[in-house]
Amino acid sequence: MTTRSLQHVIQSMPTSDGAGVKLRRSIGAQRGLYLDPFLMLDEFGTDNPGDYIAGFPAHPHRGFETVTYMLDGRMQHRDHLGNVGDLGPGGVQWMTAGRGVIHSEMPLQESGRMRGFQLWINLPAAEKMKPAGYRDIPAAEIPEHALPGGGTVKVIAGTVEVAGTVVSGPVNGPAGRLSTDPLYLDLALPAGARVTQAIGAAHTAFVYAYEGSLSIGDGPAAKAVPRQAAGVLTPGDAVTLTAGPDGVRAVLIAGRPIGEPVVQYGPFVMNTRDEIEQAIRDYNDGTLTAAA
Ligand code: MN
Repeated sequence: MTTRSLQHVIQSMPTSDGAGVKLRRSIGAQRGLYLDPFLMLDEFGTDNPGDYIAGFPAHPHRGFETVTYMLDGRMQHRDHLGNVGDLGPGGVQWMTAGRGVIHSEMPLQESGRMRGFQLWINLPAAEKMKPAGYRDIPAAEIPEHALPGGGTVKVIAGTVEVAGTVVSGPVNGPAGRLSTDPLYLDLALPAGARVTQAIGAAHTAFVYAYEGSLSIGDGPAAKAVPRQAAGVLTPGDAVTLTAGPDGVRAVLIAGRPIGEPVVQYGPFVMNTRDEIEQAIRDYNDGTLTAAA
């Protein structure tokens, strides 16, 4: 077993998106710096409605997947296919833009806390133009399992083995593997608790602590990851995480790299400039979401 350690840290930077929603962007904050297959990670978290009330009015996507994980608050998704989904605390929306989606993501509340993540996962060239897909996953469908060293893990995507018990998330489980084979875990660990998690050896992996603190590894060689930053892991087939003195809540995310050129123009992510120009033409012509 090769244990992963901390390779580098991608700090998050305050920014805004949509109609003025305030958020912190780590992966994707610097143009052209991706973490194959991950294109972007936004954390939104605020008690101030002025930071989220304008939401994300209708906008397009092509060529990748968007995964929204709500911790607190409620948002409503509406798309050109007629899907309407209410995303509540602990719920996930897994959207495959494929050839094209036009959707809005708007708050369903006028006060209170709104908190969560949006992750963008790239698609390989062969899947960029596949039909759009959309999945609403309520909190009740996301398994939560106690960890032997204390704390819990929620399995959103992929499969984990916890003390001999295999736990599969609703996405990328045994019933259907995505080509990027994503693992998406939400961990809550009390002070000093330790967890070791297997990760595909060729996968890109990172951890993002959104409450408290953690370190990668165990003992004197452990390396601290700053809070609200993506801690990118070295290659290996497992990682050990140790919670800091106040415990930690963190997401651990991994995926198989695609290894293809990435050309991004806002909400369109393709392999070539020509394909981006085509996406813009299709959007302007009203055919972005048309059947192929
Ligand atoms: Mn969107």
